[in-house]
Amino acid sequence: MGRSETASERTTARAARTARAGEVLDLVRRGRASTTSQIAQQMGLARSTVAERVELLRAHGLLEQGPDVGAGGGSGDSRDSGSGGSRDSAASGTARRGRPPSVLTFNPGAGLVLTAQLGMSAIRAAVTDLHGRILWSRFVDLDIGYGPDVVLARVEREFTRGLTALGASPARVHGISVGVPGTVELGTTQPPPSGPTRPWIDYPIAERLANLYPGPVFVEPDINLLALGEHRGAWPDAPVFVLLKVGTVIESGIVIGDRVARGAAGLAGEIGHTHVPGASAECACGNVGCLSAIASGGALARTLNDGGHAIGTAREVAEAANGGVLEARQAVREAGREIGEVLAGVINLLNPQVISIWGYLADAGDHLFAGVHESVYRYAVHAATRNLRIERSRLGDDASTRGAAAMVVERTLLPEAIDRYIQRAQDCEQVHEPG
Ligand SMILES: [Zn+2]
Repeated sequence: MGRSETASERTTARAARTARAGEVLDLVRRGRASTTSQIAQQMGLARSTVAERVELLRAHGLLEQGPDVGAGGGSGDSRDSGSGGSRDSAASGTARRGRPPSVLTFNPGAGLVLTAQLGMSAIRAAVTDLHGRILWSRFVDLDIGYGPDVVLARVEREFTRGLTALGASPARVHGISVGVPGTVELGTTQPPPSGPTRPWIDYPIAERLANLYPGPVFVEPDINLLALGEHRGAWPDAPVFVLLKVGTVIESGIVIGDRVARGAAGLAGEIGHTHVPGASAECACGNVGCLSAIASGGALARTLNDGGHAIGTAREVAEAANGGVLEARQAVREAGREIGEVLAGVINLLNPQVISIWGYLADAGDHLFAGVHESVYRYAVHAATRNLRIERSRLGDDASTRGAAAMVVERTLLPEAIDRYIQRAQDCEQVHEPG
């Protein structure tokens, strides 16, 4: 009894020493403070208390202490030493107080994130650092119709391969993020020869992967990861951001106030299934006249193929349009007009600052954009288009992986999560301490 009380008292004392370490890391990581004094001031704590947390974070590799502020000033080149007087007096001021303060920086190499994008016909596995920088990645052609057991076994093999290539221990994994096709696409796709996609619905992907590595596992429609990655990487200040994917199908992802908007049942952004007046083409969702059924890369490929062109995929539609095939160029521009009409409704509803277009048809010269602009500026509320930017994706193939990494990093580096992480690590050390 007495023994266990002592242990619980020790745990409480440790918790008190580690409390708010996560907040310290957060201030440094977001660039809001970089010295112990600045942190102490912002958190209203004694410097000694902050110094204790800093030591803890350094011991876990999350913080690094850089060169001292003002250090090297004397040995700087002539341009440096000749700079403004106020800077010089500030430097001499710190020198007078004794040792100048050290600059603290976040160490993105403190952990790794594993990501996987499961597409309808290929997967991409990657390993990133805690900045979302891609350290290793690999594309593998694999039909999702093989089912979760086959596809996830392959993902697991690729994760092992990536960690081995980097010489990294699985213990360094902070979390995993998996992008999956949207529910509508998954549920409506015609069964490929290798088997139906039904087994994916409700398959416990997260539970399966959680048994293999430390840290949380996030499973998210890939379109949301695309939107998050493009937002964080290219438009982090946009309060309302829409990513429109125009590939084999048409989908969109929405970021509002820094967060992905998923909708009540995770179906927000399915604008590919908006009815286009007058259209009657059958859609895979069971309806007729959906935007995806007439203006997606898949739909254009079918139309052009019926018209006598040897075109079978969205990529080939873009290649034909870029290659000067008149019918392909006209088809892409007309698709842009149809998409623009639906986007005008999105603009009136959400008033986005940026709409980023991703996918093969976005790469078909300016034909898609010309059509989109025509409709948007004709049909959307004028005031809502004044500062609106409609741009091609800047992150391209990496957007989804970057979004997947951001999802893990932003949640596992939340102050509360860091406090728990350090607490857990210390409890483990305690257990292994010789008695
Ligand atoms: Zn549809």
